Amino acid sequence: MPDDLVTMDKIVALCKRRGLIFPASEIYGGIANTYDYGHYGVLMKKNVADEWWRSMLFERDDVVALDSAIIQHPRTWEASGHLKGFSDPLVDCRKCKKRFRADQLEHAACELKPSKRPGEGADCDLTEARDFNLMFETTMGPVKDDGAVAYLRPETAQGIFLNFKNTLQFARKKPPFGIAQVGKSFRNEITPGNFIFRTREFEQMEMEFFVPPDEADRWYAYWCEERRHWYERLGIRPDSLRLRPHDPDELSHYSSATSDVEYAFPIGWQELEGIANRGDFDLCAHAGVSGQKLVYRDPQSNEEYVPHVIEPAAGLGRAMLAFLCDAYDEDEIGGELRTVLRLHPRIAPIKVAVFPLLRKEGHPEAAREVYETLRRRFVAEYDDGGNIGKRYRRQDEIGTPYGVTIDHQTIEDQTVTLRDRDSLSQERVPIEGLADLLEARLRADWTSPKID
Ligand code: ATP
Repeated sequence: MPDDLVTMDKIVALCKRRGLIFPASEIYGGIANTYDYGHYGVLMKKNVADEWWRSMLFERDDVVALDSAIIQHPRTWEASGHLKGFSDPLVDCRKCKKRFRADQLEHAACELKPSKRPGEGADCDLTEARDFNLMFETTMGPVKDDGAVAYLRPETAQGIFLNFKNTLQFARKKPPFGIAQVGKSFRNEITPGNFIFRTREFEQMEMEFFVPPDEADRWYAYWCEERRHWYERLGIRPDSLRLRPHDPDELSHYSSATSDVEYAFPIGWQELEGIANRGDFDLCAHAGVSGQKLVYRDPQSNEEYVPHVIEPAAGLGRAMLAFLCDAYDEDEIGGELRTVLRLHPRIAPIKVAVFPLLRKEGHPEAAREVYETLRRRFVAEYDDGGNIGKRYRRQDEIGTPYGVTIDHQTIEDQTVTLRDRDSLSQERVPIEGLADLLEARLRADWTSPKID
């Protein structure tokens, strides 16, 4: 695990200060562990999701997209096993009225005496553990009776299995092929926390890859490596990543093998994404409950079989937190501390910022012209507020890789200063060809300057 200066508090403070992520419902005092994404947070989250889509859809031809409903038929959750088994063991403290996960008491603190674990304080009075289902229940339609109960999906995966048949019919794919989706999921977590690491409402990026049964082991190994590399390709330092195979007693009932891609968060090594070999559990379960035939039939041989499924399941917010933690850096410029996000340019919310040096002498007009040309090709920002050092610092904190400054020389010779966020180099380059130059640099391979 790399020795780092980043802490969760610094990330939370930076996200608030620069408008990436704020506590939700703040004017009402907030609502526990719920967050809203501001302008730069929206742009960055979109970039992470776009990179996922790019790797799943546009750089290969065996995966198709889906966007299924959040509320599915309630029997979905009967078939998937969520109604019966998607629960955590919960204990209540009768004294402080706090709830804890019985299996995580060693990581929790007593509300009244934080130096002790729940149950260890003299006054603690814990109940027996009981199962607490994590699905959010709601009702459909105006009448609140038994038949109206529905659930907010706790994962996006089941919507994919429900559409296996539809997809086979239109997509003209045969196993091995995958169905990918990105969307919101909801879990009534007993102990959410650590900023956006664990929230009750979150986004997932999941792909179900349907394969002939005898190819499942090979594809499982393939997706484990592929998914780990995805994070590396987007700039996460290899030392901060590891692939951890689950012990047999950790495996879910449906899985014959699972590995987690873990990241060295400031709170320790934690799961970023799980890759599971789910066998034929899901298609068989939904076929059993729905009465539909969920199989693949080879049109040539007429051979019929239930494909096995390899599932890479990632969290979008959690991935974003990992990118933020890995990019966070501090250095010194002219005796002053600088905070900088050394984000991969593809993930950075803004690619280039354009600054007039002065608010007079033709600088703003020339700067707007450059900005309007650049923004046709990149997400760009125009900033004329405050001294130039402050403006650079603001962009450094949101990870903008390039800054373009327009000054008196620009007016004379049509050149600008191009500043690099990481090396801090400042070169004089002509406006003509600037967009092509930037495009080449933004597309180039990138490795984190935090790697020695
Ligand atoms: P954990 O052990 O952290 O609860 P899990 O193994 O239950 O996670 P999965 O069901 O495999 O998680 O979900 C896939 C991914 O979705 C996780 O790797 C994580 O990135 C993300 N995820 C799951 N639960 C949450 C949550 N409550 N908040 C944010 N992201 C989540």
